[in-house]
Amino acid sequence: MSIDLTAPPWLLSKCSLWIERLQMGEWDVQIKLALVLNEDPECRGTAEAYPDISLGRIELRADIEDNAEGETTLVHELLHIKHGRIDDVINRVLEPQINVPTPMVKSVYRLALEPFIDSLSKALVKLAKEEP
Ligand SMILES: [Zn+2]
Repeated sequence: MSIDLTAPPWLLSKCSLWIERLQMGEWDVQIKLALVLNEDPECRGTAEAYPDISLGRIELRADIEDNAEGETTLVHELLHIKHGRIDDVINRVLEPQINVPTPMVKSVYRLALEPFIDSLSKALVKLAKEEP
């Protein structure tokens, strides 16, 4: 039996809705599903942003469900893409000015960014549910 890894219609429509809510209309966001992400069974999603061409690629674990948790994962990855413009400034402009190894800079930055993206995605999904 083969497993269907195309993004289901509910996911694509949620993605369009959140692109509008997050004012990300200039981005072309592509969604793919995968059985395992980053060789980490706990990883639910990944995002790659290409700010120069306003392209975002999201990969979500194939068991994503149409519920608050699945929606939060989607919003989390969309926020990473939106944040990609800021990440790009950090990478191109600030990182070369810092006199420490790049992997350390990246990991410190990520440690600060992840809780921010995580709490923001949870808050946004909660607020959206409370909308009349
Ligand atoms: Zn993240």
